[in-house]
Amino acid sequence: MNAPTTLERPESIDSPALTAADRCDYCGARAWVRVTLASGQLLFCAHHARENMDALRAVAVSIQDDTHLLVADEAGTAR
Ligand SMILES: [Zn+2]
Repeated sequence: MNAPTTLERPESIDSPALTAADRCDYCGARAWVRVTLASGQLLFCAHHARENMDALRAVAVSIQDDTHLLVADEAGTAR
């Protein structure tokens, strides 16, 4: 019998959709993008996600981009 392999499940891996409680780390607006780094997570509003995306892509483990929901939900009010 194989010994069961217990995978650690850090909370950063288990990422549900962003909600109104998630706030941009820069400005405190509602966050639409979650960037997972080796060291933790950063949240960004659509504005700051766009502004920093090039740099973030270079260092991120994963990027969860929910800005498509913003377009449907708020029709550009957060630009
Ligand atoms: Zn922001």
